[in-house]
Amino acid sequence: MDPFALTGRTGDHVIDVSELGCRLHARAAEALLHMREAAAEEGIDLRVASGWRDFSRQRSIWNAKYRLERPLRNSIGEIIDGSTLSPLAKIEAISRWSAMPGASRHHWGTDCDVYDRDRLEPDAVQLLPEEYAPDGPCGRLHAWLQRRMHDFGFYQPYRTDRGGVCPEPWHISYAPVALDCERELTAELLAQLLDETSHYDHLRIEGYAPLRAHLDEWYRRFIGAVDSPPQTLGSSAL
Ligand SMILES: [Zn+2]
Repeated sequence: MDPFALTGRTGDHVIDVSELGCRLHARAAEALLHMREAAAEEGIDLRVASGWRDFSRQRSIWNAKYRLERPLRNSIGEIIDGSTLSPLAKIEAISRWSAMPGASRHHWGTDCDVYDRDRLEPDAVQLLPEEYAPDGPCGRLHAWLQRRMHDFGFYQPYRTDRGGVCPEPWHISYAPVALDCERELTAELLAQLLDETSHYDHLRIEGYAPLRAHLDEWYRRFIGAVDSPPQTLGSSAL
């Protein structure tokens, strides 16, 4: 994938998927439509809350959090007071739940956030851990995904807490394309992106300077420390 697509600055690699109401990489979309059918057979209405996202959308999320216009959350999803945090601590808190613009897996079109429409109205979806707990509205979907998603080439890169991004049971990734993207999204590429965007008001990322100064450490923690797919993952899909 070219560096602009990889960092959400072009969308030539994604297609509109009307059935899912989002944009995705064509291969991920095809696999997801098959998986949705299989889920439907078991009474689960698998829907996408968020598919492909571009740089500017991710930037508006990140910048709003940095400016404390959107709430910051702790590791278990509770809202915290961001006004007392140092710039670096704020970056760390934001990064537990939201990717730096240019570094979101949603830019690739291979990753999406899913929920069970049968149990949760679209405008009620918050993407919080309790919704995916065994007794939560998406608990059944979560259990189904653990059992079946690998057959369709999907896995959860944020399944466990590795000290970087918090566990996100709603976030699934299409391995046959996403693993290549993972390798291509290097710290050097993100350093270049931070440098380039810092020159333009409409592209600038809040917290640019401390992020740039600690980029290697930040990268290891928030990009590198993800779960891998199981070895047995959909050999037919691969
Ligand atoms: Zn996500």
